Amino acid sequence: MALIVQKFGGTSVGSIERIEQVAEKVKKFRENGDDIVVVVSAMSGETNRLIGLAKQISEQPVPRELDVMVSTGEQVTIALLAMALIKRGVPAVSYTGNQVRILTDSSFTKARILQIDDQKLRADLKAGRVVVVAGFQGVDEHGNITTLGRGGSDTTGVALAAALKADECQIYTDVDGVYTTDPRVVPKAQRLDKITFEEMLEMASLGSKVLQIRSVEFAGKYNVPLRVLHSFQEGPGTLITIDEEESMEQPIISGIAFNRDEAKLTIRGVPDNPGVAFKILGPISAANIEVDMIVQNIAHDNTTDFTFTVHRNDHLSAMRVLENTAREIGAREVIGDTDIAKVSIVGVGMRSHAGVASRMFEALAREGINIQMISTSEIKVSVVIEEKYLELAVRALHTAFELDAPARQGE
Ligand code: ASP
Ligand code: MG
Repeated sequence: MALIVQKFGGTSVGSIERIEQVAEKVKKFRENGDDIVVVVSAMSGETNRLIGLAKQISEQPVPRELDVMVSTGEQVTIALLAMALIKRGVPAVSYTGNQVRILTDSSFTKARILQIDDQKLRADLKAGRVVVVAGFQGVDEHGNITTLGRGGSDTTGVALAAALKADECQIYTDVDGVYTTDPRVVPKAQRLDKITFEEMLEMASLGSKVLQIRSVEFAGKYNVPLRVLHSFQEGPGTLITIDEEESMEQPIISGIAFNRDEAKLTIRGVPDNPGVAFKILGPISAANIEVDMIVQNIAHDNTTDFTFTVHRNDHLSAMRVLENTAREIGAREVIGDTDIAKVSIVGVGMRSHAGVASRMFEALAREGINIQMISTSEIKVSVVIEEKYLELAVRALHTAFELDAPARQGE
């Protein structure tokens, strides 16, 4: 008998019909003898609808009140699912974050979980009840309702699994697992049977949107086995775990992530003195703008070029800051570029294989794609390229690293 935490996202509880389907599914698990805690999101579109209401009152709603309101989305789904289970003869009880006591800090709209009281949940499970918990919400030490940030129900699921030492945390969603890359870009993308926390974290921060990043961090920290599955299709999904098999089978690259969220800024003709990087990036960080990739070229004529990337939303404010800096330090010019994209190859297999980066560069060269910037870490290599080549680059890399699904008969 296992203890399983199952999280169902917004589309999986998006209608009464779907909620009934989820109840059927949970019932089957119960009949197998497993103890089940279910975490649900608000019905799809509901959180956006609620935020929309608040915005009609004020462009920047008071965060505390916003949380009081958006937390109601999940309160509706927990009650509906509990009703649907009880109707099927499955004893069930629903709890809000406050009722469980999912204690968080007081950072409204992006609170962090501090502690979970598992007493009530354990007592219910012991009494044979399925426990249905509202995702995305908690309560601070003063009794204020808090929420965990968009997509936060994933984190609720993982945190409950950690607190209860569950055998597995299953994240049910509208895809049947984690893929080698976005199947909309590469139709030959494949579902991964397994991926490590580290890789998943890279994939998530680099643009793959299957799981909330924080939930993956949490799962890695507490070593909660995490599985991504399709809500209404059978299949093994993708297991996210700690172990890195050293087998020959281990692919060098597990996935290819990409995003169009960044913009590039270049400051040219910078006098090349000690402290230059600080003079350029200090004011950027003082303006609360996060920098991702950085490149400084070798100086010629005692001046150098310095390039970095920021989130596209920060591009204009970063340009303003940089133009100021350019004037102050006597740099020649500032150039901005938003037509860029970042493509990354990710894999723990890189640790034991040399030449992975050059294989990546070779594949891009063969397509005539120019690389503007490069950054590497132990388990990833990222490049910035011109945005219009993004899809071509992802496809070429997917093939070069042998990730393409084998062609089916007749294809
Ligand atoms: N309902 C919340 C949202 O849309 C939390 C979640 O679904 O995970 O962000
Ligand atoms: Mg989600």
